[in-house]
Amino acid sequence: MFDDVYFSRRDGAAETTHVYLDGNNLPAAWQGRPRFTIGETGFGTGLNFLMAWELFDKTAEDGAFLDFVSVEKYPLSVEEIRKALSPWAERLGPYLDKMLAQYPLRVPGFHRMVFDGRVALTLIFDDANDAMPEIEGSVDAWFLDGFTPKKNPDMWSDTVFTEIARLSHAGTTFATFTASGVVKRGLRTRGFKVAKRKGYGWKADMLAGFMLGDVTEPPASPSKEIHILGAGLAGCSAAYVLRQYGFEPVLHDPNGIASGASGNPVGMINPRLSAFRTAESDFYTAAFALGARTFSQMDDVSYNPCGALHLVTDEEKEKRFVRTAENWGWGDQMKFVDAAEASEIAGIALDKSALYLPQAAQINPAALCRAYATDIPLETAVPPEGATIVLANGAGALEYLPALPIHTVRGQITLVKANAESAKIKTNIGYSGYISAALNGTHAVGATFQKWMTDTNSVSEDDTANLENLKENVPSLGDLEITGSRASLRTASVDRFPVIGEIDGFLVSTAHGSHGILSSLAGAHLLGDILRGGIRSLGKSTVKSLSPLRFSEREQRKMQNKV
Ligand code: SAM
Repeated sequence: MFDDVYFSRRDGAAETTHVYLDGNNLPAAWQGRPRFTIGETGFGTGLNFLMAWELFDKTAEDGAFLDFVSVEKYPLSVEEIRKALSPWAERLGPYLDKMLAQYPLRVPGFHRMVFDGRVALTLIFDDANDAMPEIEGSVDAWFLDGFTPKKNPDMWSDTVFTEIARLSHAGTTFATFTASGVVKRGLRTRGFKVAKRKGYGWKADMLAGFMLGDVTEPPASPSKEIHILGAGLAGCSAAYVLRQYGFEPVLHDPNGIASGASGNPVGMINPRLSAFRTAESDFYTAAFALGARTFSQMDDVSYNPCGALHLVTDEEKEKRFVRTAENWGWGDQMKFVDAAEASEIAGIALDKSALYLPQAAQINPAALCRAYATDIPLETAVPPEGATIVLANGAGALEYLPALPIHTVRGQITLVKANAESAKIKTNIGYSGYISAALNGTHAVGATFQKWMTDTNSVSEDDTANLENLKENVPSLGDLEITGSRASLRTASVDRFPVIGEIDGFLVSTAHGSHGILSSLAGAHLLGDILRGGIRSLGKSTVKSLSPLRFSEREQRKMQNKV
């Protein structure tokens, strides 16, 4: 596409060592540092990342942590990467396999992977000019590797240089294969000392340097022990993820694991859909891709990537779904299909067109909570005075933060026995409710939304409502026999978006509504980043929309507008 090569045809690995590792004085630069962060423009095959990881693994102290954040507009496929890196397959084998096992779905936005509890890769699939302003964190060394400026000026724009400077501190180093004047000026005018060095192979020169200024001490490492209130999806996923970042989580719940809304036997894994790409939709995109790669590697959670059809139930929805498919940029991960194709995909007759998500899935949320919480201490009492606390206890967070505008929404699901027709269903089918593909001969049919009710006993009227809604939207199924039902309370916020972040000395993860399987997991990574002070796993705009501070900030803005 750019008429330029990803790396030297002679020896890409040797080029990476010469230009990027030696150019940034690695491994010496990370010695004695508990945390080190590398930023890269142009992820490509991941060769630079893999080489940095390998070197870190071999040379960094025990307990040290590497953040690597990279942007890539045209992500390669797993097969393309394998092929391109085949000359180093043996050398990079274990690292390459681990990276590819978690390589994200090629959908836009932020993708966080954690390896061996000591390396976090944040891969952003977007144009550097859009992606870099969304990065939050502090970079210690830059690998500037975005094809030559002559052939690819977009990668070396004023925006990109400004962002490199914003994310740097005094002492931050950089290295790049090019010796172009544009790059020299771009960095010099933004506070970097820039020097020419001998380039790799036939290239005469390359550039390396550092940001000028007084170097300050990095902040102290946080306390390791984290007390999490609530052992549902939000709490258990936080425990699971925080442990990957080296923390020692403890769960607190008087009712044990998955006693509330997270205890359902079947849960749908779907993003919350919207017509346009926004900070909020970016959250569900990131969470969806994260869920796919996380759950597919877990045992005993009944994960089934069976896909989902979201039926068009009225004209407004049709407009919205057509726009979703156009605007979200999910490529073949999202497709608008007519009723005939939808029927073909579903395995039963459907009389409506639909938005099809082939990677949507179902899972057992209660089993997922148990899998997350394996080997995590669980206590029934409240945490000790002075502990670092994560509020992941749904509306229970109100006890600590009474002003948070969150409330419960009762939901009842109905379990039905598969009949001859319904057993053919191959995907989840969503309308205003949903029916899951059968799991062990049982479908889950959901769900009611009752903001005004707090009783968790199941009632037969709700089962009737669920089945009538199903019959209206999927009439071909006939009568289904009810085998059980379960009612519980979800938590939601006034703007229907989760509440994840830091407020008044607490960390919070709540208001996951009916998309909690995905949002709790993505939220858990964000909490981990806040605690460790690392690169954020989500874009700045998304982090802002999730923040528990957003409600009071909105109030303040309203007041100011009135004055
Ligand atoms: N570091 C890579 C490696 O280790 O394989 C090689 C990077 S290759 C020389 C440059 C990369 O920059 C390509 O993968 C290309 O798709 C990407 N790229 C080009 N223009 C971009 C842009 N505007 N935003 C983000 N990525 C871009």
